[in-house]
Amino acid sequence: MEPFIRNDQYNFIKEKGEHLISAYANVQDQGVLKAVKMLAVEKAEAVFEKQLDEEQGPLIKELEAITDRKELEAYLDKIKANVFSFPSITDKTLKKLFPKNKKVKLPSQDEMENTLSYLAWEELGSSSKLLIVPIGERLIGLQGGFQPAEKKGVCAICRKFGKVGLFTSKIKGHGAGTFTKRGNYICSDSFECNQQIQSLAYLMEFVELMRTK
Ligand SMILES: [Zn+2]
Repeated sequence: MEPFIRNDQYNFIKEKGEHLISAYANVQDQGVLKAVKMLAVEKAEAVFEKQLDEEQGPLIKELEAITDRKELEAYLDKIKANVFSFPSITDKTLKKLFPKNKKVKLPSQDEMENTLSYLAWEELGSSSKLLIVPIGERLIGLQGGFQPAEKKGVCAICRKFGKVGLFTSKIKGHGAGTFTKRGNYICSDSFECNQQIQSLAYLMEFVELMRTK
């Protein structure tokens, strides 16, 4: 089976699995459990924009058999094989994505091996963060300032509460040579953020807001 699950969809399915485990731990009524199972599968199927085929459909439906953590972990391991991997980035692509940054370097291989919705890393000694976001067939490179916030907050990309920092980007203004600064709080730990994203909509909004046109 070819990969057909995006990272955000995987996270969504994982959360539905968590709901099932908690229902099994807290609910005795068989009718209620049956309804919870049906709803979990229905929601998991609905995150895919297209009709699942005869192999993909049954795999997602297997979610309804989960009753405890061990089963959930086994199921997640199984579907992980069908999650798209992050596109590999060559040096040439990297330079194209960040033309103004002459010293740009990719993060370690480990970080890139995870399933990701976006790749982000901090540049040593420059308090800036770099993001590579696949949008359809294209890759978007974003570089901005990054300052850890003193208080926890809600991340603009995954919409979860946690340790965040302010990402700032300079956008060209209307007049020649003028700039405006835009900023938004995002998770300090981008790996954690990637594990929490359940929809690409906010990531797309963030990219649109922060892009230098
Ligand atoms: Zn986040």
